[in-house]
Amino acid sequence: MIDIAAIRQQFPVLNRLVKGKPLVYLDNAATAQKPQVVIDALVNYYSQYNANIHRGIHTLAEEATAAFEDTRNAVQQLLHADSREEIIFTRGTTEGINLVAYTWGRQNIGKGDEIIISGMEHHSNIVPWQVLCAEKEAVLKIVPVNDNGELEMEAFHSLLSDKTKLVSICQISNSLGTINPVKEIIKAAHAAGAITLIDGAQSTVHLDIDVQDLDCDFFACSAHKLYGPTGVGVLYGKKAILEAMPVFMGGGEMIKEVSYQHFTPNELPYKFEAGTPNIADVVAFKAAIEFVNGIGKSAIAAHEAALLEYAAEQLTPIKEVRMIGRARNRASVLSFVVEGAHPQDLGIILDNQGIAVRTGHHCCQPLMDRFAIPGTTRASFAVYNTKEEVDALAKGLQKAIKMLL
Ligand code: PMP
Repeated sequence: MIDIAAIRQQFPVLNRLVKGKPLVYLDNAATAQKPQVVIDALVNYYSQYNANIHRGIHTLAEEATAAFEDTRNAVQQLLHADSREEIIFTRGTTEGINLVAYTWGRQNIGKGDEIIISGMEHHSNIVPWQVLCAEKEAVLKIVPVNDNGELEMEAFHSLLSDKTKLVSICQISNSLGTINPVKEIIKAAHAAGAITLIDGAQSTVHLDIDVQDLDCDFFACSAHKLYGPTGVGVLYGKKAILEAMPVFMGGGEMIKEVSYQHFTPNELPYKFEAGTPNIADVVAFKAAIEFVNGIGKSAIAAHEAALLEYAAEQLTPIKEVRMIGRARNRASVLSFVVEGAHPQDLGIILDNQGIAVRTGHHCCQPLMDRFAIPGTTRASFAVYNTKEEVDALAKGLQKAIKMLL
């Protein structure tokens, strides 16, 4: 059992009032709050050893470089990657996916080739492939979603063919919380000769990730969903694939040597890290990983699963509430509509009670179209949430329903 009260004390923002009420933060799928250790790591970097990395020989530059590279080691362990050269720092999941689309995609996708994504993808795992397909005259195929918010796996298998070059799927849906059978997907994609990208934006905080066991070719995630800073993400790629890929952005750090005639790309992972990176936030990301490791992902997952179950018990009996997505395998997200009430109005009334939820399409417009709704109200849970907060949500929702209907 984890001591939630002690954990809550580590998050300063949880002490604040919103509209005169204690904050109930249930928007964790959008971004998680930050523990004091992460905030301290940021302040410590800027107040003690701010310097540009990799290029300096002075003490501050060496300290900053060591701290930056230490985070890479921590991420390697977090994802169970084979080597630290496979860990590329990005601005977030979005940039990781775009990196693959702009480099691997432009090199390997041609006319008539097919890319498979699913019907529950975030826009950042849709639009980069639309851009690529338009440029290359390739075809985007979509795995349908059933009424429970699960992937139709038979349909997925029948979409695979020798035309399939890439399968890019989220491990957990940010709108519905569905956990997808990515291992099965990766295996089948490989059997068809395709490579795979897993969008781990939501899963990295809830599941143990082992990219070698999954055998995915790429895995993208964001630090801010894992109690870390915004503006930092990770793209994992298998070394042989990364080595064969052309460079992404050009600039400092990503080169070995430059003349006016040509340039030689740097070794991995620096080949894909052009320019001065987000040093402070990368450094502080390590504190977030240590925070998660200190509690243990399985303990966090068990706490969140209990909260999810409790929340479903509290909200389902409210007759106006219709759950969207009831996947058997689900993590930390409860998405629902209230018949006759717009999600945004619900969100405003809940905010007036200090309750932060997300309302709208959650960057998944095609999924909302699938369910023929404009959007949902989404409550998403993190390690610091409590049953009392779920009670506050249920009470707040009933109040909102009375006001709106
Ligand atoms: N994919 C999924 C499933 C997400 O939940 C998100 C963030 N909401 C993203 C991609 C994009 O992540 P970021 O905005 O951190 O780049």
